[in-house]
Amino acid sequence: MRLILISLLLFLLFVPLLAKDKINVVVSFYPLYDFTKNIGKEKVNVTVIIPFGVEPHDWEPTPKDISKILNADLFIYNGAGLEPWAERLVKDVKNKGIVVIDMYKAIGAKGEDPHIWLDPVLVKAQLKVIKDALVRIDSKNKSYYESNYKSYLKKIEALDREIRNTLARCKKKIIVTSHDAFSRFAERYGLIQVPMTGVTPEAESNPKDLVEVIKIIRENKIEYVFTEPLISPKLAQSISRETGAKVLVLDPIEGLSEKEIKLGKDYISKMRENLKNLKLALDYE
Ligand SMILES: [Zn+2]
Repeated sequence: MRLILISLLLFLLFVPLLAKDKINVVVSFYPLYDFTKNIGKEKVNVTVIIPFGVEPHDWEPTPKDISKILNADLFIYNGAGLEPWAERLVKDVKNKGIVVIDMYKAIGAKGEDPHIWLDPVLVKAQLKVIKDALVRIDSKNKSYYESNYKSYLKKIEALDREIRNTLARCKKKIIVTSHDAFSRFAERYGLIQVPMTGVTPEAESNPKDLVEVIKIIRENKIEYVFTEPLISPKLAQSISRETGAKVLVLDPIEGLSEKEIKLGKDYISKMRENLKNLKLALDYE
């Protein structure tokens, strides 16, 4: 009798594992989707919780989204306040035996700026965290994940070099951005970011700060100011009217639109588009 029970128990435990051929990964927003997909490829189902084309700061999940997370094998979110809802869920998710990654903590990022995906050097650290988690959950496919990781890592390293070399040949160094998303990027590549609003796009811009931004634009003869696709361009437009600076897009890549996904755009191609506009704005020689 006991043997039958044990056999039954083993059967119930292992059949679901055997039947499942892909790891279910749930991620909070687009960059983590792209990074995970590039490492897990055919061995993972990646679900992104914040819909494409939606600005992630201050977004909230539905009960359906929460149930997707609670049925995942692995849940990855950015952390550092980008998804406060995810931080509230962590305990429940972990209690279900799901592997949870707070990427910000996992790579040991410093400071309080959540925009760690805009610094390719920090992206490299993120790739390793994702690869290690996939290997831990699905060790039989270790070499598969290792080899995808290495080839994607090379692409990110090439992107980093390209940005570094290009920006080193730009005469200007100040970027006037919409929300405060590019301070890590600026710091990495020797630029100075002057944001029009705070660390989230919803943060009200202080009129006094805007006067200061306008002063900086005039004093430094800045010819371009940046807006982003997922927010209203009104602020950049009014600064543009005030100063004569033209408006360009610098995408913080917080979510791609459906159209961009269909066109096959991804993190790397979006970073290259940003670089093209930076070349124009910063006077590439
Ligand atoms: Zn942001």
